[in-house]
Amino acid sequence: MKYRSIKGTKDILPGEIEVWQHIEGLVRQVMRSHNYHEIRTPIFESTALFARSIGELTDIVTKEMYTFRDRSDESVTLKPEGTASVLRAYIQNNLGEHASLSKLYYIGPMFRQERPQAGRLRQFHQFGAEAIGSQAPALDAEMMIIALDTYRSLGITETALKVNSVGCQRCRPHYKELLIDHLAIIASQLSAESQSRIQNNPLRVLDCKDEQDQRLLQNVPLIKDYLCQECADHFTHVLTTLDETQIEHTVDGKLVRGLDYYTKTAFEITSSALGSQDALAGGGRYDLLIEELGGKPTPGVGFAAGMERLIMVLTKQKPITFSAPLPTLYIVSADEQARHWTFQKAIELRRRGIAVEVDYLDRSVKAQMREANRLNCEFVLVIGERELTSGSGTIKNMISSAEASVSLSQLETFFA
Ligand code: AMP
Repeated sequence: MKYRSIKGTKDILPGEIEVWQHIEGLVRQVMRSHNYHEIRTPIFESTALFARSIGELTDIVTKEMYTFRDRSDESVTLKPEGTASVLRAYIQNNLGEHASLSKLYYIGPMFRQERPQAGRLRQFHQFGAEAIGSQAPALDAEMMIIALDTYRSLGITETALKVNSVGCQRCRPHYKELLIDHLAIIASQLSAESQSRIQNNPLRVLDCKDEQDQRLLQNVPLIKDYLCQECADHFTHVLTTLDETQIEHTVDGKLVRGLDYYTKTAFEITSSALGSQDALAGGGRYDLLIEELGGKPTPGVGFAAGMERLIMVLTKQKPITFSAPLPTLYIVSADEQARHWTFQKAIELRRRGIAVEVDYLDRSVKAQMREANRLNCEFVLVIGERELTSGSGTIKNMISSAEASVSLSQLETFFA
């Protein structure tokens, strides 16, 4: 029996992980410069949390969640997105009491049982941010800017930002009725999927991928034209902020996104370097969600960005040449006694922060030298009976071939 990773999941191997670490480092840097603080929430949560926040009738909740009963018969779910967990943690830990505005970010794995394809996995990774406690439209823009700045710092500039407003509980119900009336007229010509959404989730009909549907939807009423005064003002403010900060964007009246919790602003960042799954990041405002999850009424806004898709764009632009960190020194052992000394010395040097490798496979001196070469070690030191007796040895620089005599008891000074 050969075990294989589960369909839609991937190993990130040495050689690849350095790219991830580099990106994660940059994300942390951008977040820090915007004063966001990292939060790590558990991989699984109670199923009800996601059903309540993402929406009972959304694709994620109805079709894609990894939900199971644990041994106490509790229904738990591997987190399909980050916001619900962050808000649960915010409420549970009374973070709102310590600061009137909480700026949080996360990086981590998410799980959705989608049909795997390029850029779509079942375990994928997102980085994202949430700003909780303010209605300021500047924060909506800040979310877009954080994502775009991260891309820019990686050299990704071929991105498109689409923005919309999906209204609030005051203006959306009226618009929904209008939309349902309009969709009812063209219902019979729409795809089966869109038809099934008309009653349950009519806004999702707007962003369906079917081309025939999109042609039929050309004259559909758009929510941005039916916003209440507050939502309209907010939207104008967000767009003005983007203009003032010279962030290129287009208003896409059909952008609604797959999660029910959004109010007012919704946005998406796409990349032409990706195929059909071209969304790099998405986000929006969720002013009612915290109250809905049992917290005090608190506005919030956030975004989430896919790591795998970001790496796909990077790899398409130019081959990524990160290599695994290399050991600085390889200590070759000529015999059994040397092997013993070498292992002890390696431990000592490693404790001082010097990257050292030794042989564990009883290899000949020649084979150990080959291994040091293969590992691209910068320095090699051969230890045999002569070196142990004299207490000194010769360190060879593998790049310049220069040699230096060193005292074995003070080896670390060579690397100081
Ligand atoms: P969402 O949480 O659906 O708004 O997704 C935010 C971002 O996460 C998307 O724009 C993608 O970049 C990424 N993403 C979402 N689902 C997947 C998936 N199944 N596989 C890989 N990336 C994904």
